Amino acid sequence: MSTFDSLNPATGAVVATFPVDDDGAVAAAVDRAREAAAWWDGLGFDGRLRRLLAFKHAVVAGLDELARLMREETGKPVDDSRLEVMAAVEHIDWAARNAQRVLRKRSVRPGVLGANLAASVEYQPLGVVGVIGPWNYPVFTPMGSIAYALAAGNAVVFKPSEYSTAVGSWLVEAFHRAVPELPVLQLVTGLGATGSALCRSGVSKLAFTGSTATGKKVMAACAETLTPVVIEAGGKDAAIIAADADVRAAAQDVAFGAWGNAGQTCIGMERAYVEAPVYDEFVAELRRIAGTVTAGPGDADRIGPLTMPSQPSTVLRHIQAALADGGRAVAGGEESVAPPFVKPVILLDVPEDSEAVREETFGPTLTVTRVGSVAEAVEKSNAGVYGLGSAVYSRDLGKAGAIARRVRAGMTSINSVMSFALVPALPFGGTGDSGFGRIHGADGLREFARPHSVARQRFPLPVPVLSFRREAWQVRLMGRLVTLVHGRRR
Ligand code: NDP
Repeated sequence: MSTFDSLNPATGAVVATFPVDDDGAVAAAVDRAREAAAWWDGLGFDGRLRRLLAFKHAVVAGLDELARLMREETGKPVDDSRLEVMAAVEHIDWAARNAQRVLRKRSVRPGVLGANLAASVEYQPLGVVGVIGPWNYPVFTPMGSIAYALAAGNAVVFKPSEYSTAVGSWLVEAFHRAVPELPVLQLVTGLGATGSALCRSGVSKLAFTGSTATGKKVMAACAETLTPVVIEAGGKDAAIIAADADVRAAAQDVAFGAWGNAGQTCIGMERAYVEAPVYDEFVAELRRIAGTVTAGPGDADRIGPLTMPSQPSTVLRHIQAALADGGRAVAGGEESVAPPFVKPVILLDVPEDSEAVREETFGPTLTVTRVGSVAEAVEKSNAGVYGLGSAVYSRDLGKAGAIARRVRAGMTSINSVMSFALVPALPFGGTGDSGFGRIHGADGLREFARPHSVARQRFPLPVPVLSFRREAWQVRLMGRLVTLVHGRRR
């Protein structure tokens, strides 16, 4: 059996070794999951709630241990790791506690033609959900699919990224301790081919989080078996800073959004559009903050290494493209890239058609662009192919809300950065090349359920509408009734 090593990105030390699961191993896991799914569904909302809360407790009890493992395997600072686990815990709790309210059977009005019917809809589990996750938020991100899929009554087969498999394995073991009866949540390990096998394994739905390029491959593989997908892909999120914003607070937020987690955040800030009157102040404050954000392996360093060995070269390419296209660096530059670490970089005057503005960088760089108006900021913000998160800064909340509505993105935070991700009730997802479908919130629960509509005849209609016994005069009679109800303009 072939294996692969998961490495500490700061030191290169082996964290753990895992098997490369082939098609057969993945198929076997999905088979086991089918059995577990039937049992899990049979537990009902209450039985699942109890067990999901036990899982939540297991994660909370192991929070520090898990955070240290995240640090070791992805390089993320321990406090960032702790916060990530806390955010994931809130989602497990919300999904568990709200599943029944959102998914239980409810009656709907039958309408005029269905006046003799009792109509209801119920959200049933899909069966087995495949979850493929990235490494950058190795707990929060996959849990956005796993917790909601489980709460909706499905079993899950989870393939974590090869760069965060030890963290994925910790989560699955914690679940087994809380739910020892059957393998309701299973782990499959390996590289891209294992993920591809999961796409082709006959799961009822595949929830993918990762890059847009891999998302397209996942969709193509799932298309072979008409397996539905949720695609949570990359972003190039922008912050819009209006002239009346609290500029210092905005700079603090945008700096964290851009450079936190070494810029490896799907909803991180990669672009800022700033109205001219506050542009200089915003840039000056950002530069000041950039000087305080150290990148390195120490516990006191604010950002750790880039997790994927190939990523520093992408970041360097984007910095070089920005400079070659006429931009200038006012904090850091090419020299900021010292693999596996990259220090914060601020790029000004980068043309909108530069690769550095159009493509997801996934490193601690930020382009800052002076704009003449909020309308120009919105237009530039919306010009790219992605549409994941966004941030709007203005002291006028009515204006900020109006700007947010015009931003083409799945999510917007106002006078804060990435805050929507902390609210479990808010659906999370994007548009365009950022993907489709939603995790989190009621939409996230319904994403992993099959609406089942039932119309029950309470009594036979005197006019048999859906029958060959129907006569022409009866249809005319029905027409008169419909005209009476719907014929008025209001
Ligand atoms: P990748 O697309 O490289 O990988 C994502 C997952 O897909 C990994 O588990 C990977 O396995 C697996 N995979 C790779 N090839 C295939 C294949 N052919 N078929 C099926 N699965 C495959 O993304 P990263 O892990 O590098 O994550 C970073 C990306 O994720 C960024 O673009 C980021 O924006 C995005 N992201 C989006 C989020 C969102 O919610 N919208 C949240 C977090 C990140 P392996 O690692 O073993 O190759």
